[in-house]
Amino acid sequence: MPSLYRPPPTFADASAADAGLLDAVTAGAARLTPAQGLELFHRMPLVELGRLADARCRAIHGDAIRTYVIDRNINYTNVCTAKCTFCAFRRDAEDHDAYTLEHGRLYEKIEELVGIGGTQVLMQGGMNPALPLEWYTTLLRGIKERFAGANGGRGVHVHGFSPPEFIEFVRFFDPPGATLFDKVLSVIRPLREAGLDSVPGGGGEIFAAPVRRKIGLGKCDAESWLTVMKAAHSLGMFTSATMMFGHIEGYADRVHHMATVREWQDRAMRDGGSEGGPGGHYKAFISWPFQRENTPLGRVRDWGDRPEELEPGALFPGDAVATLDGDGDARSHPEFGRRVRRAGAVEYLRTQAISRLMLDNVYSIGASWVTMGPHIGQVALSFGANDMGSVMMEENVVSAAGTTYCLNEPVLCRLIREAGFTPAQRDNAYDLLRVHDASRAGEAGYCPDLAVTDWSAHRAKRLHAERPAAGEAAPVQVTVTAGAK
Ligand code: SF4
Repeated sequence: MPSLYRPPPTFADASAADAGLLDAVTAGAARLTPAQGLELFHRMPLVELGRLADARCRAIHGDAIRTYVIDRNINYTNVCTAKCTFCAFRRDAEDHDAYTLEHGRLYEKIEELVGIGGTQVLMQGGMNPALPLEWYTTLLRGIKERFAGANGGRGVHVHGFSPPEFIEFVRFFDPPGATLFDKVLSVIRPLREAGLDSVPGGGGEIFAAPVRRKIGLGKCDAESWLTVMKAAHSLGMFTSATMMFGHIEGYADRVHHMATVREWQDRAMRDGGSEGGPGGHYKAFISWPFQRENTPLGRVRDWGDRPEELEPGALFPGDAVATLDGDGDARSHPEFGRRVRRAGAVEYLRTQAISRLMLDNVYSIGASWVTMGPHIGQVALSFGANDMGSVMMEENVVSAAGTTYCLNEPVLCRLIREAGFTPAQRDNAYDLLRVHDASRAGEAGYCPDLAVTDWSAHRAKRLHAERPAAGEAAPVQVTVTAGAK
């Protein structure tokens, strides 16, 4: 009978040999090469990685404040032309639980968001060929008109439509343009004019082609993903970049992904805007581990289930295929794509810390408490993350894959404060809206965590889930307010 014991990974301490380089990296005076980034994955112990990433984070963001945003994830449709193997959210149009939300229902959701002090809507869908461009432009204009007075007259920021959606828009709408970049511009321009403010980095997954071809069936390739963001940047828009890891990829794939974001960020910073104004760029990088439940990829066996996979020298198939240029040969290992190496808390924190060290030109690193849970999210603030992301008043994608963590503003602030920082609400540009310094406790709108007098009775509940979870009769509809008990 095979032993259930899994020997922990061992890492030789690289800090002594590389102390000079790593000091320079944490100070922002040197840049890690991809090979050096890969070395960190293989050699650097967790705690040392955390120390370095925390030092780098403090050099950029200071010692005092860590941020969050109040926004709402709205998944306007789950009908999707792609069939990503890691996705539990998508449906075909004829499925009984396929949906597309009416504009009126979307406005109601934003009304609820504004009601709890929200500033931003994150709008992403499946890629639904039934929706014409006018469906989107009408919706965006409607949001801007209806909520022009929200947030003290600043309105509601629309962070929407990830790069794979734009690539499908190009296919669906056949806009004018000689190149993909021109065609994307022809789609983004009217959406921007109608009210789209920034573009989220959904669909980044892993850029390396061998991995992407296996897991992102029907989803755009990395070059197209990056071209969309380049077009958005040329119009002066901010974007974010993401990475989903802990599946079939090798460590070199993660490093290649980070180095690719860094390289295209350099270009965005260099090129500026194409229309006379300042250019945009990637504001943030967020990474999270693959969530398994209800997904085809989740049924793939874990690496290490078989005794021979625990033998010294046995190489995870993803590592056998991965190369730092993202151009590995999928035939390098017969089991590539047939084994997953799932990431737990240690792997998550290591990866996030390395992203902070690699991405010297990206301002924010976001913690993913949505996938890792609130308490790992809290620890992530000491492993290179400066931002806790959003309260999660609605979430439909990760929860479909079995992960259903949920926080409200008081809990989010408490987590940040207990981690040793002052919580602050930010906007999409990472400007601070309210700094919850304890000296302001008792003032309206400040320090919602310090207003809670009985945490034993305090519960954060999801405001809404678009579809019922298995066994539930109907979508959850509860109201969450700051300071609620
Ligand atoms: S991850 Fe996005 S693009 Fe892929 S199948 Fe799911 S909804 Fe579609």
